[in-house]
Amino acid sequence: MNLYVYIHIPYCYKKCPYCSFVSYEKLLNTKQNYLSALKKEIENFFSNNNQCTIQTIYIGGGTPSLLKSDELQSILDSLRKNIVSKDCEVTIEVNPNNANKTYLKLLKEMGITRVSLGTQSFNNKKLQFLNRLHDSKQSFQSVENTLEFFKNVSIDLIYGFEDFSDFQEDLKYAVSLPIKHISAYILSIERSTSFYRQKIALSEENVEKQFLYLVKFLKTHKIYQYEISNFAKKGFESKHNQAYWQNCNYVGLGLSASSYINEVRYKNTDKLDEYINKIFEGKDPIKKREKLGPKRKIKEAFILGLRTINGVNIEQFNNKYNCNIEDFFKSQLSNHYQLKTLKKINGSIKIANPKKLLISNYILSDFI
Ligand code: SF4
Repeated sequence: MNLYVYIHIPYCYKKCPYCSFVSYEKLLNTKQNYLSALKKEIENFFSNNNQCTIQTIYIGGGTPSLLKSDELQSILDSLRKNIVSKDCEVTIEVNPNNANKTYLKLLKEMGITRVSLGTQSFNNKKLQFLNRLHDSKQSFQSVENTLEFFKNVSIDLIYGFEDFSDFQEDLKYAVSLPIKHISAYILSIERSTSFYRQKIALSEENVEKQFLYLVKFLKTHKIYQYEISNFAKKGFESKHNQAYWQNCNYVGLGLSASSYINEVRYKNTDKLDEYINKIFEGKDPIKKREKLGPKRKIKEAFILGLRTINGVNIEQFNNKYNCNIEDFFKSQLSNHYQLKTLKKINGSIKIANPKKLLISNYILSDFI
């Protein structure tokens, strides 16, 4: 069985005011225990699933680049005791503050193939608003340093809250660098965050204007949208992320990580102590386990496919899930064709245009 592996490192230097990920700034003293538990979880998982071939590894967080190179190496060693595909994509998220040449060289030597840089912006005003630890100079320097060692470099951008001119300038800087991939996220104000408590709000009009400009602007620079928030030069789409949208089997290891294996969804606990203790006690850190019934499986796969720009190829979908998707969702599809939120083109069902992608959550909720 092909398997896509996610590893979660839940530590950060400082909690960003917009961040709702499971990450801690104050518990670094638990790091050694956490890494031991994580390696034990890797070992346990693969001893029960020893026929899997690892297709991709994605080390995310948190801030995985706050780990020392030998700590990262030992996680990779644990994974590589198993069957790993020859062209396995190995991605790590790197904070611009850590993207120095010595560290990047070590990452390269340990077989990392792709770096996702948490630049967020090249504009000091934006970075200060986001309360990031790095400035615009470090954003540039981190990209330049990374490009010296890696061909496959992605950057993160956050937008939707700034003036349009600052947004345009940010994009201009981004495309001036020979990066291969951009993950561009609209700032989202989640309940658990400091921005939510500060009642930060975004103008919908501004968000829409920036999103439509982004899609068009990147396209003129041959960086194509392939999912709502993801853009890549041809051939540099993230294999790991695509596996999620194609409903492939993936395992998430570490605190709060999610998995989907043989039609069962799993979610690990998001309590750090509980995660470490359970693993040391020889117990499972899983908090939630849910077997998908046949209908739910079809619904979820369809929704995931619609997130992508190519949408859902009807014939392939019907063959894979042994169904007739147009009958299955007859009334919802006819409603959305009428509303012009979805369209059927060249044998695929997809979201009708970039403007409708912005309301994709509302569209997709009709298929749950
Ligand atoms: S660095 Fe990333 S994971 Fe850490 S607090 Fe900031 S946004 Fe969250």
